[in-house]
Order: sequence, then C-alpha cells, then structure tokens
Amino acid sequence: MTIPVTSTAPAALEFAVTRNLAARGRGEREEILANPGFGNHFTDHMVDICWSAKGGWHRPRVSPYGPIQLEPSAAVLHYAQEVFEGLKAYRHEDGSIWTFRPEANAARMQRSAHRLALPELPVEYFLESLKQLIAVDGDWVPDAAETSLYLRPFMFAKEAFLGVRPANKVAYYVIASPAGAYFPGGVSPVSIWLSDHYSRAGKGGTGAAKTGGNYASSLLPQSEAYDHGCAQVLFLDSTEGKWLEELGGMNVVLVYKDGTLVTPQSESILEGITLNSVLQLARDRGHKVEERRVSIDEWRVGSESGDIVEVFACGTAAVITPIGELKAEGFTLGDITAPAGELTMSLRDELTGIQYGRRPDRHNWMTRLDG
Ligand SMILES: *Cc1c(COP(=O)(O)O)cnc(C)c1O
Repeated sequence: MTIPVTSTAPAALEFAVTRNLAARGRGEREEILANPGFGNHFTDHMVDICWSAKGGWHRPRVSPYGPIQLEPSAAVLHYAQEVFEGLKAYRHEDGSIWTFRPEANAARMQRSAHRLALPELPVEYFLESLKQLIAVDGDWVPDAAETSLYLRPFMFAKEAFLGVRPANKVAYYVIASPAGAYFPGGVSPVSIWLSDHYSRAGKGGTGAAKTGGNYASSLLPQSEAYDHGCAQVLFLDSTEGKWLEELGGMNVVLVYKDGTLVTPQSESILEGITLNSVLQLARDRGHKVEERRVSIDEWRVGSESGDIVEVFACGTAAVITPIGELKAEGFTLGDITAPAGELTMSLRDELTGIQYGRRPDRHNWMTRLDG
C-alpha cells in the first residue's frame, strides 16, 4: 500500500483571525485537560474555508468555536455528501507541538473528496489550516503521557438544494478536541464481535473513503457488538461474507509465529495511515509483511493451531489495540485473559515513541505545527 501525495502550489491563503473573547481561562482549560476523555470537549476556535463552483476556495477564517448556520435544505443533511479526517497534535518534551504524516491525511482527504464528488482541498491549505488552529489554540495540546489534541478536519455540502447532484457550495472546517490516554490503566486486549450479516461497505461503494455514511451503517452492528460484551465489530466482505475487511474505524493485522504480519487487502477498506506506518516499522525490523486477502477460516485455523500468535487493530485514536478475543455466532477464538502480544506492544511503543519525540524519526513522518 502506498500513500500518494499530490503536490500542487495554489496561491497562499490569508486567514482572517477573529479571537474568541469568551475563550476559557487557564484554570478552566487545565481542569478539562486533566481528564479530557475523547471527543467531549472542544477548543476555543475553529477554522473554515469556503468553496463554490464559481469562486473555488475562498474566505479562510479562524473564528470562535460555535454553532454553524445551515439551511434546513443543506444537501449534506439529506444526501450525506461529507468526508472527514482525524489526526493528532502531540506535545514533545521541550514544549513544541507536532503532528504525524499530515500530508498523508491531506492526500487521503482528497481521495475521499473525489469519491464523494466534493472539491479537493490543496495539501498546502490542509497543512496551513492545522497550523492556524494551533497558533490560537496551542495551549490546548496536553502534555501528560499518551495525551494529545485530536484534530478533526471535515468537509460537507452546504448548498441549499434538494436536487440530487454534487453541491456547488461546500464548507471545509477544522475543530480540535483534547484526548486523554486511550488506555488509562495500561494497554489491555479487547474482545471484538464478528458481524455475520451486516457489511460495512460493498464492491464499488465508498468503503475506501473516510465518509460519515460508512460510520452510520456501522452503528447498528456496533451496538450488537456491545450487546455481546465486545468493544468493536469486525466486518467481512459484502459478496462472499468470507474475507476480513476491518473494524468500524480501525484496520486489522494478524501476526504469524514466524513473525510475518498479514493484513487484509480489499478495495472497500479504508487505507489507514497508522497501519501503513506500523507495517513500515515491521519491515524495517526485517519482518515479512503480506497485504492480501485473508479469510475468516484462515484466522480460525491459525488461531486454533497456534500459528497465529497475535492479532491487533490500529488507527489514530488508539494507535494499536491488541485483540484478545474474537467472538462470533457459534465460536470464539483466542483468550481474553492472555497478556497483549510482544510484537504488538513493541510496535506500539516504537510508533508512539516517534510521535511523542522520544525516538528518532527515521522516515521524516513528523511535522511541526507551532512556531
Ligand atoms: C480512519 C479510519 C481508519 C484508521 O485510519 P488511520 O489513518 O490509521 O487513523 C481505519 N478504518 C476506518 C474505517 C477509518 O475511518
């Protein structure tokens, strides 16, 4: 899997900055940062850039975080023409603020936008939008271990029009939300539920795009997973119901006894940047990596014979989550009481080490956002 980076050189955007006069003070902010959870709190500002078919990208702004005015007929509310991204800002030991492979997120947002018939935001505008938000809200990047400021760029059809065609008016926004450690009590393996009658995405559909509709269709199976005591749901392909795809929002990797990492290949999987990076780190260590079709039977047989020794999920929010157990209608694989796999934990440690500036950044993955 490669992550192409398109480089265009658009005119520089001049952001108009309006400070939030009701921005929270240091005390209130620190109280929130002490226990932020995930997705509960938002910083004092947001960034937006408008797009119209006539005028292209225009009116870049930094403004106080707050409600967006939309007409009830805005196309996104009816036809879900929307894409988003997710990445984190990390505070390093010396106080500086960095993010991880943002040009890969920018390129992916362009691919998602293309699939949803939305305009492609130039990579430079994407990077600048993150820097602009950090310039006003940098104090919201926490410094405790494994905490970060989650950055959420998104784009939607705001044209007031109920006809079915790509919208002529679109808005791009970035908001930010402080995130606590995903595993506050230390990393521990999770159970996942195998959905045997719902799929996440179909052939020729939008599975490879980061779009809200994929999440909407995963919510019901996700609540089935909760009902079975599982944290996440694993989806199979939509045609044969046989090949592994991914979890609702994370990619999946199987580790064989001989050190080979295997991850499903499919046109309806979202290409994770965490996955791509973890596989690179494994290759750097001399591990064999296979991106190919993986059947649920392969997992079942390999797990029962002991040939598959570790399984993990990966994505920006949790970085790497060890999968202890797979529960399905009629069978269960793995042992939830077993400790997290050794390779799983050491790859997690290496990747977070790079992100938090504790380890050398051999691949030039880090981009500074402040100063
Ligand atoms: C965002 C996402 C991932 C993980 O991608 P990262 O770039 O690693 O955060 C995996 N699957 C889906 C469906 C996603 O939306």
